[in-house]
Amino acid sequence: MSFNSGLGMERSYYVATANPFAPASRLVGELSADVVVIGGGYTGLHSALNAAGRGYSVILLEAGRIGWGASGRNGGQMIPGWRKGAGELISRYGQAQAKLLFGMALEARDLTLARIEQHGIVCDYRASGHLTLAAKGTDIAWMREEAETLARVMDYPHARVLSAEEARAEVDAAGFHGALVDSGGGHLHPLNYALGLADAARSAGVMLHEESRVLRLETERGVVAHTENGVVRARYGVLACDALLGDLEPRSAARIMPVANYLVATEPLADPRALIANDRAVSDSRFVVNYFRLSADGRLIFGGGERYTPAPPADIAAFARRHMVNFFPQFADARIDHAWGGLVSISMTRLPHIGRVGDLFYAHGYSGQGVLLPALAGKVLAEAMSGTAERFDVLAGIAPPEFPGGAMLRSPLHVLGMIWYALRDRL
Ligand SMILES: Cc1cc2nc3c(=O)[nH]c(=O)nc-3n(C[C@H](O)[C@H](O)[C@H](O)COP(=O)(O)OP(=O)(O)OC[C@H]3O[C@@H](n4cnc5c(N)ncnc54)[C@H](O)[C@@H]3O)c2cc1C
Repeated sequence: MSFNSGLGMERSYYVATANPFAPASRLVGELSADVVVIGGGYTGLHSALNAAGRGYSVILLEAGRIGWGASGRNGGQMIPGWRKGAGELISRYGQAQAKLLFGMALEARDLTLARIEQHGIVCDYRASGHLTLAAKGTDIAWMREEAETLARVMDYPHARVLSAEEARAEVDAAGFHGALVDSGGGHLHPLNYALGLADAARSAGVMLHEESRVLRLETERGVVAHTENGVVRARYGVLACDALLGDLEPRSAARIMPVANYLVATEPLADPRALIANDRAVSDSRFVVNYFRLSADGRLIFGGGERYTPAPPADIAAFARRHMVNFFPQFADARIDHAWGGLVSISMTRLPHIGRVGDLFYAHGYSGQGVLLPALAGKVLAEAMSGTAERFDVLAGIAPPEFPGGAMLRSPLHVLGMIWYALRDRL
C-alpha cells in the first residue's frame, strides 16, 4: 500500500488517456551510479535528465509507478511564478532578490516548454493563459497592484485585470468581481508530460526502476538507498518524494505537510467553449481554491475541496462533484466520468523547501504550484552537484520554516489554521 493509494488514480481521466509507457523493472541486487534519484515525478525526472545531461550516470527509484504521484494527478494548470505573488516576494525579500527569484520562476516555465519541444512530448499543451477569478470585491485592488508590479518591477507585461463583465465573457460563472489574466500561463495533460519526461530520461541513459520503494537511506558519505530487494550506492542523491516523503528523511518532514485534494472530469461537453471561451486554465482567489480547465476532448476538469484528514471521502466523485456544482450550478445533472484525488505538499510560506543534507539534495513543497517549478529545481540541483551552487543557494535561501509542533504536531495545529481560513471563504 502506498500513501496515496485509495485516491482513485486508476480511475482518473489521465490514466484513461495516458500515452503508452513501457513499465520499468524492479530494482534487484546492488548497483552503483553517480546519482541516485528517489521519486519518479517531475522533480525526480527533471533532476535525472539534468544530471544525465551533465554526464553523470543516474539511477531513479520509484516506489510505485512513474508519474503516479502528484505529477500525474494534478490540475494541469501551468501558472507562471511562485505561489506567492510578486508584491509579496518584494515585501519578504526586497526588490533585487525578488526580481532574481521571479526571473528564476519564469525560467522554470521556459525550461518546461523547452523539454516538451525538445523531446516531442505529446501532452495536450495549450498556451492559452491562466485566469484568477476575484471571489471578493477587495481582490481587485491587489490584482491591480500585482499586475502593475509585474509590469514595472519584474518586466513582465503579460498580466492584466479584467472587469466583472470581461471575466464573465471568459468563464460562464456568476458572482465574480473581475479577474487577473496571465497570458504566460496555460495547461497540459500532467501524466503524459511526466511519462514523456521519463521516456526522455531513458533515452538520455537514466536507469528507471518502478515498484522500488526506498526504505532506508544512508547519508554519511555519498548516498546509499536501500529497497526491499536491492541497494544503490551513489556519490549524490536527490530526494524527490514531495507529499509522499513519509518519514524517509525526518529532517525535511516538518517543513512540508500533505493535504488531500480531489478532481472530477465530466463527460465531454456539447459546447466547451461556451463555458471557458478562451480555453484558459482558471482558478479562483479563495483560500481553498477551486480550479478548472477543459481537457483536449472538451470535458470540464474541476478540482476543489481539500481534506485534512488522512482517510479519503467514501465517495470521491460525490465529494468533488459537490464543489463543482456549487461553482457551476448548470452542471447539476452533468455525468461525471472520472474522479480521483492526490496529495499536495504545502509549506508554511507556500514557497518550496530546496536544499541539501550532505550529499543528499531535495526539492519539495511547491504548495500547489508544482507543474512548472520542478524544471527549475532539477536544473539547479544538477548545477550544485557539479560545483556551481550560486543559484542553488538562492533557492535554499527561501526555505520555509518548520511547521509549529514539528513533524508530529504539524497536522493538528496547521489544520486548525487552515480550517479557519476555509471557514472565512464560506462566510
Ligand atoms: C490534486 C492535485 C492538483 C494539483 N494541481 C496543480 C496545478 O494545477 N498546477 C500546479 O502547478 N501544481 C498542481 N499540483 C501540484 C503538483 O502536482 C506537484 O507540486 C508536483 O507534481 C510535485 O512533483 P514531485 O515530482 O515533486 O512529486 P510527485 O509527483 O508526488 O512525485 C513523488 C514521487 O516519489 C515517489 N516516492 C515517494 N516515496 C518514495 C520512496 N520512499 N522511494 C521511492 N519513491 C518514492 C512517489 O511514489 C511519487 O511518484 C497539484 C497537486 C495535486 C495533488
